[in-house]
Amino acid sequence: MEHLSTLSNNKLEKWLNEHNSQAYRRKQIFSWIFERWLQSPLEMQNIPKELREELNSSFASSTSKITDDHSTDDMTDKILIELADGESIENVIIRTEDRTTFCLSSQIGCAVQCHFCASGLDGLIRNLTAEEIIEHLLICCRKANSRPDNIVFMGIGEPLMNIENLIQALDIISSPERFAFSPRRITISTSGWVPGIIKLANIAKPYNLALSLHGTDDTIRAQLIPEKCRYPLSKILEACCEYRNKTRRMITFEYTLLKGVNDSYEQAQKLAQLARKQHAKVNLIPFNTVAETKFIRPDDHHILSFLKILTDNGIQATCRLKKGNNINAACGQLRRSQKNQKQKQEQK
Ligand code: SAH
Ligand code: SF4
Repeated sequence: MEHLSTLSNNKLEKWLNEHNSQAYRRKQIFSWIFERWLQSPLEMQNIPKELREELNSSFASSTSKITDDHSTDDMTDKILIELADGESIENVIIRTEDRTTFCLSSQIGCAVQCHFCASGLDGLIRNLTAEEIIEHLLICCRKANSRPDNIVFMGIGEPLMNIENLIQALDIISSPERFAFSPRRITISTSGWVPGIIKLANIAKPYNLALSLHGTDDTIRAQLIPEKCRYPLSKILEACCEYRNKTRRMITFEYTLLKGVNDSYEQAQKLAQLARKQHAKVNLIPFNTVAETKFIRPDDHHILSFLKILTDNGIQATCRLKKGNNINAACGQLRRSQKNQKQKQEQK
C-alpha cells in the first residue's frame, strides 16, 4: 500500500478524481501532512468524513512510534523510534538559542562498520524507505513542535549507500508543494562512499556535503574504516571536487578526534593544509565513548589546542565540546543500549 506522504501530485489528483473529489483537496491533504504533521487522514478536519475514511483505507499510514525519549538539560532530545518490523532507529533534536537541528538516520545499522562507531557493530540490517525517512522527520516536528532550521543526515547509517531512497525523500522534503525545506539547510554526511558522492553531485542540488575525513592520509583512515567500504583518499577528494564544481557548495570535513590516533598537532597542521587546498570547513567531533571499542577521547584542553591550530591557519573550524557529545550519541548508541537490554531480558 502506498503512503500519502510520498505519493506524486498526479497520482493523488488522479485518485481524488476517481473518488469524485476535486483536485484542490490535494493541497489540503499535503498541508495537513507537511505543515501540521498529522499521522492519520482521519484527523484532517476540513476534508469530508467520507473522503477521510477512503483515504485512510486506501493508503498506508504511519506505523513508527517513539519508544524511548532521552531529553537532556542542554536541550537535546534523543528519540528511539520503533518501525513496523520491530527494528529501531534513532533521531536527535538539537536546540541552540537560535536554531533547531534534526539529526536523522538513513539506515538500520551500517555496512561500513567504522571501528569507533556504535551504528555499524552489527553491520547493515536494512535501508530505511523514503516513507520512513519522511515519517521520522514529521515525528521530530511533532516532538519539537516546530519545523527544523537544519536537517543533517548524521544519525544511523551511511546515507549515500541508500541513495535512491534518500533522494526520493530529499525531493519531497525540498519540494515547495510538500515540506518546502531549502536544500541549503540539509547536510548529508558520508564516510567517503565515492559512487554516492558522484551520484549526488550529478543531481546538482545545493545540499551540503560533509565528508567524514578523520585522517589526512590513507594510513590513518585505514585504522578507522574497514577496507571493504573504504576508497583511497585521492578518489574521495576527486569526487568532492566534482561535488563542489557541480553544486557550488563548500564541503565540510568532519574529524572525529581519537586520542593517539589522529589528534597530534602535526595532524592538525596537515588537516589545515588539506582544508585550505580543498576550500573546506572543518567540524571537529570529540569522540563519544563507545564501550565496545578501544578508542579514547582526547581531553578538552587538547581538543581546543587542535582547534586553535586550524583557526590560526585561517580555517573555518568548529567544535562543540558538550553538544557534540550529544549529537554523536545519535550514532547508534541509544539503539545499541536498548538492544543489549532486550537481549539481557530474553536471556533471563
Ligand atoms: N555514515 C555517515 C553519517 C553518520 S555518522 C558518516 O560516517 O559520515 C555521522 C558522524 O558521526 C560521522 O562523522 C561519524 O564519524 C561520527 N561518529 C560516529 N560515531 C561517533 C562517536 N562515537 N563519537 C564521535 N563521532 C562519531
Ligand atoms: Fe557507518 Fe558512519 Fe558509523 Fe561509519 S561512522 S559505521 S559510516 S554510521
